[in-house]
Amino acid sequence: MKLPIYMDNHSTTPCDPRVVEAMLPYFTEKFGNSASRNHSFGWEAEEGVDRARKQIAKLINADSKEIVFTSGATESDNLALKGVFEMYREKGDHIITSSTEHRAVLDPLKSLEKKGANVTYLSVDKLGMVNPEDVRNAITDKTILISIMLANNEIGTINPIKEIGKIAKEKGVLFHCDATQGVGKIPVDVQDMGIDLMSFSAHKIYGPKGIGALYVRRKAPRVRLVPMIDGGGHERGMRSGTLPVPLIVGFGKAVELCEQEMAEETIRIKALRDRLQEGITSAMEEVYLNGHPTERLPGNLNISFAYVEGEALLMGVKEIALSSGSACTSATLEPSYVLRALGVGSDLAHSSIRFGIGRFTTAEEVEYTIDRMAKAVNHLREMSPLYEMAKEGIDLTTVQWAAH
Ligand SMILES: *Cc1c(COP(=O)(O)O)cnc(C)c1O
Repeated sequence: MKLPIYMDNHSTTPCDPRVVEAMLPYFTEKFGNSASRNHSFGWEAEEGVDRARKQIAKLINADSKEIVFTSGATESDNLALKGVFEMYREKGDHIITSSTEHRAVLDPLKSLEKKGANVTYLSVDKLGMVNPEDVRNAITDKTILISIMLANNEIGTINPIKEIGKIAKEKGVLFHCDATQGVGKIPVDVQDMGIDLMSFSAHKIYGPKGIGALYVRRKAPRVRLVPMIDGGGHERGMRSGTLPVPLIVGFGKAVELCEQEMAEETIRIKALRDRLQEGITSAMEEVYLNGHPTERLPGNLNISFAYVEGEALLMGVKEIALSSGSACTSATLEPSYVLRALGVGSDLAHSSIRFGIGRFTTAEEVEYTIDRMAKAVNHLREMSPLYEMAKEGIDLTTVQWAAH
């Protein structure tokens, strides 16, 4: 087994070697501009783009004309939210979203609020799920867009997208879904789920960084967007700029591999995740699962290790790449807003670790991780006065701490 171990597959994934192989000719021999209509270099590049567009459309049950290439899911989210708001603001100014969305959705919405948007942030239940009835109840005659993510990037909880899509249709409101963590890992069907706009990205599914897509529905209803980038009118005018052909070809190949291998891969990754969870929970006490026990991404495990600081724990297992539930914002260590939205207390939020199992994770790496986590957690707890007091049966919530 080689160190360090990569177990942070929600942040990004390595490119599959088969993806790299598919991309290589498009850097050299097939370097043409896919918009060059007058020669074979252009045609060759265009063929590569067309093939990728079809592969991607097929995976999500869309038409290839409905795929708009972007630089990644952050841009797709921005284009969907800002593009819809600008196009439909005469009709209304109200947007519904949830408090556990990715920053790529929350930050553009914050900026739209400054431009007059009225945004409702729905809360989630303690497992991280949006209640479709809350979406229904939030809709007003001014609502132009609902934006709810498919699967959460921290806790892996999968939202009831089909139910939300149905409500959006019934009420005639556009529905955007940030499906970046779900596409390629769980079945996604934009028709069946009633999705009108959907963001996703290649680098979360073993494709290259710097390429993503926005699905934009063309009929029933035909969604219109004000573009953020004007130029040569590429991508049906919604996103101008010369297409990065090698990245697009790689994205297409990555999607094709996901489609072919999803059924088998899900079983294998889920078994590794379940073993990791079982190994951790049987090796130590006072560990708590964050997120949904069943409705969650197959490769996701988010656990709070009570009485241990997540950041300290990560320092103790430096040879394993993981994420903690705290984000370093300027000077302070903020606990994850996603965990706080579930009602997880500040202490347990600070003690959370996200494990992301992926295509290249091995059983040996999982066993090593269980063993190292148990040792690191025990070591930190041995040094923790709080843990000692808790072990002695003192209820820490009743302790009167001396004021400074
Ligand atoms: C990673 C991620 C993004 C951002 O994607 P990029 O392609 O890196 O811009 C957006 N939303 C979710 C849910 C993600 O996991």
